[in-house]
Amino acid sequence: MGCSLSPTHSLWSDTAPTSPARRSLAGDATVDVAVVGAGFTGLWTAHYLAEADPSLRIAVLEAETVGYGASGRNGGWCSALFPASLDSLAGLAGREAALAQHHAMRESVDEVARAAAELGIDAHVARGGTVALIRSPAQLSRARAEIAQARSWGIGDDELRLLDQSAARRLLDASGTIGATYTPDCAAIHPLRLARGLADSLVERGVAVHEHTRATDLASGRVTTPSGRVTAGTVVRATEGWTSGLPGHRRDVVPVYSLVIATEPLPAATWERIGLARRETFTDHRHLIIYGQRTADDRLVFGGRGAPYHFGSRISPDFDRDDRVFAALRATLVELFPVLRDVRVTHAWGGPLGVSRDWCASVGMDPATRVGWAGGYVGDGVSTTNLAGRTLRDLVLGRDTDLSRLPWVGHRSPRWEPEPLRWLGINAGLRAMTWADAEERLTRRPSLLARVIAPLLG
Ligand SMILES: Cc1cc2nc3c(=O)[nH]c(=O)nc-3n(C[C@H](O)[C@H](O)[C@H](O)COP(=O)(O)OP(=O)(O)OC[C@H]3O[C@@H](n4cnc5c(N)ncnc54)[C@H](O)[C@@H]3O)c2cc1C
Repeated sequence: MGCSLSPTHSLWSDTAPTSPARRSLAGDATVDVAVVGAGFTGLWTAHYLAEADPSLRIAVLEAETVGYGASGRNGGWCSALFPASLDSLAGLAGREAALAQHHAMRESVDEVARAAAELGIDAHVARGGTVALIRSPAQLSRARAEIAQARSWGIGDDELRLLDQSAARRLLDASGTIGATYTPDCAAIHPLRLARGLADSLVERGVAVHEHTRATDLASGRVTTPSGRVTAGTVVRATEGWTSGLPGHRRDVVPVYSLVIATEPLPAATWERIGLARRETFTDHRHLIIYGQRTADDRLVFGGRGAPYHFGSRISPDFDRDDRVFAALRATLVELFPVLRDVRVTHAWGGPLGVSRDWCASVGMDPATRVGWAGGYVGDGVSTTNLAGRTLRDLVLGRDTDLSRLPWVGHRSPRWEPEPLRWLGINAGLRAMTWADAEERLTRRPSLLARVIAPLLG
């Protein structure tokens, strides 16, 4: 597989309509709601607030440009996945509340597609579901355990089912496939088209979207930026991987990098061999996460973890590229689909996602300070941000609703350890996942290492 990398940021930024440049904040301002961060969390929050009460004065403040963060760079899985398991949620708030969260996540997949269509945003949405391949006996036992766990929660075949080898191969013909699990609850999307479309529609509605406006501090009633202070009745923090850079939030959410490559458009004959006829998103049941989608223009976008966590939760554009990880992704893609051996990789990029210490995303608003937040989505933020936006609408407007009672609302994750423990722990965990996969390739049995470290990763 040849690799001639585009100098641009990502495939998504090369293939999204350009948005008009948006003016940075020029001087002090007063609004009802100030939202910090123009990723999906900030954009959906502003969208649902403006929709619910058009008289609200809302400003979105973005350090770079709309969709600059994970929202404009991700793998485009709009799934019903939530980073904390149903068991963990039940531990927080009981079984019924955990199931309510699960149902709200499923609805969010529909809601993203519905809202995008209503706003006239062509985000290349394809509701093909997700195929998670099973490619070893160890993966098969994990897949069976996942199905058994789902059944214990009353989740039936319509939501998650086990496919035998031939059914799996009809959907996605990857090497070594012995089966798959399949869920219909996922849509492939072009994330940056969605982010830019949302910002366009906000501006049309009269919401102020200020790019190149970095908040240096946020607190009750105000956001401070180098170009002015915003006084606001409510402040919403929607900064995800960058949160640790804000005063008072250093150990709330850590930035963990995920990296992605994209191929050139593939001919119809290649797609006939690979599958994904309905643009199903795909992965397999290994430990170190991989994810892929067939794009609307017939490329393969393929990503995974494996890049290191950087000491002190540092973030830098330099970390968006890691040739070692890109090479590993390319090798994995060719191993899955040998037909891609000579295909060109045209784009390679990455970015930080946000992980809280207990891997539980949360949304909330302190009624005393009227400072709200949402984040800690790990790699499941594309739909969860939409749920966060609708929930923040209800919290800001003081509505008691089904959404404002979900178990992730008001959840406070523990803080991460101080350095160097944080650096040691996270990188050891990432390494262990890679080793666990290697162990399984050798032994063909479920990894002992993974069993030992899973409880430590929380
Ligand atoms: C490579 C990659 C692949 C992923 N794949 C998937 C996937 O397929 N499916 C899925 O569900 N999830 C995926 N995720 C996760 C998902 O993209 C995120 O969870 C989600 O986009 C988070 O949205 P957000 O708005 O909270 O944060 P972001 O999109 O990161 O936005 C935060 C914004 O805040 C701005 N900001 C930060 N600090 C400040 C400040 N001080 N002042 C002003 N602005 C500030 C940033 O510039 C940024 O634009 C992936 C993430 C990555 C990085």
